[in-house]
Amino acid sequence: MRSSPSTKATGSSWDNTSEMLLLRITVPIVIIILFIVTTVLVYEKCRGSKRRQFKAKPFDEIDEHLLEPPELSFPGGGGDLKQLLETSTSGSGSGLPLLVQRSVARQVTLDQSVGKGRYGDVWRGRWHGEDVAVKIFSTRDERSWFREVEIYQTVMLRHENILGFIAADNKDNGTWTQLWLIMDYHRHGSLFDYLQRTTVDVRGMYRLALSIVTGLAHLHMEIVGTQGKPAIAHRDLKSKNILVKSNGTCAIADLGLAVRHMPDDSVDMAPNSRVGTKRYMAPEVLDETMNTSQFESFKRADVYALGLVLWEVARRCTAGGLHEYQPPYHDLVPSDPSLEEMRKVVCVDRQRPSIPNQWHSSEALRVMSKVMKECWYHSPAARLTVLRVKKTLCSSAVADDAKMMTSAASSQG
Ligand code: ADP
Ligand code: MG
Repeated sequence: MRSSPSTKATGSSWDNTSEMLLLRITVPIVIIILFIVTTVLVYEKCRGSKRRQFKAKPFDEIDEHLLEPPELSFPGGGGDLKQLLETSTSGSGSGLPLLVQRSVARQVTLDQSVGKGRYGDVWRGRWHGEDVAVKIFSTRDERSWFREVEIYQTVMLRHENILGFIAADNKDNGTWTQLWLIMDYHRHGSLFDYLQRTTVDVRGMYRLALSIVTGLAHLHMEIVGTQGKPAIAHRDLKSKNILVKSNGTCAIADLGLAVRHMPDDSVDMAPNSRVGTKRYMAPEVLDETMNTSQFESFKRADVYALGLVLWEVARRCTAGGLHEYQPPYHDLVPSDPSLEEMRKVVCVDRQRPSIPNQWHSSEALRVMSKVMKECWYHSPAARLTVLRVKKTLCSSAVADDAKMMTSAASSQG
């Protein structure tokens, strides 16, 4: 039996209507489900990457009640930071356990403001009768604080020519939260301040120069092994970021802009290429031709800045005549130079700090001037490595010492 055309037409229009209805209901439902699933996925991804980024965040992810710091007491009342650091770090060089850090931080009292930098004040503080330095960041600069803590906690970083890290903590003073970085205190302050007040003899110059170079060589060096250390580039080397210790040697400070070389050959954070202090920026940083995907580039830019620091030190050496302290390029750019002013002098005109004539009459200063020139070559690849600088200055210092001892012996004899 065949159905009449009219019945067929009615049947198919019913089919079409129900299909349309079904579509109208299911499509929006599917869209809504897809939207919810995508939102949840995106949210989870963001949370995950944030968590990964702050993986090592010192205190925030630990339950507050677990963070009651242990009471640190020392026989005789006096604390001994050196002893505490030696026993607690068990040689790994990555700093005190977090709870001990918090405990130390809670027992520090602030005495006097001793310096100002990019992010806040540096204070001299006291801990159990010992001086400590406290760098205070506001929560607005949390990332900078966190980054500097992260770098200082790098395994095996501890070295006599790198500023000694003691503790980090976030402190609530009742009104706002401060982020503290507690370090060894050095009463002579920065090399910049020290060189304004002091001149040095050849030995003093070698002590300052060699210790800076040794500190930078340790920073740049990769140590392979389970207790190894990645290579680190400083990115803001200058006399204001180097401290002078009471024995006349230096410690490199302010690691807030440093980058680490990762095992997959990448740099451990997306580096914005033009950071640091304009006066000390290498030509390739100033004209943005630096290859920022290659870790080696950052080391070469550090060596350029090292050359300028060596020049600042050498100028205050009495063997080279009397020169008042001046920052590099003092005669070529104004006191707070712009990027454009620096670029014109350093990249276009290719000028460098001038080497006084008197330096040619001292063997030590001849070596120093040769080394600094080879540090500040325009071509990054032509510059010395910091290890080469260290070796050259070491053998020159030894030769100089031997000469001094021989002449002392002959004058006695
Ligand atoms: P910023 O990151 O804000 O530039 P720095 O770490 O460079 O801070 O410190 C700023 C200044 O504070 C230094 O130039 C120096 O004069 C002083 N300073 C920093 N750390 C110490 C310290 N451990 N001992 C003595 N003075 C310090
Ligand atoms: Mg600084």
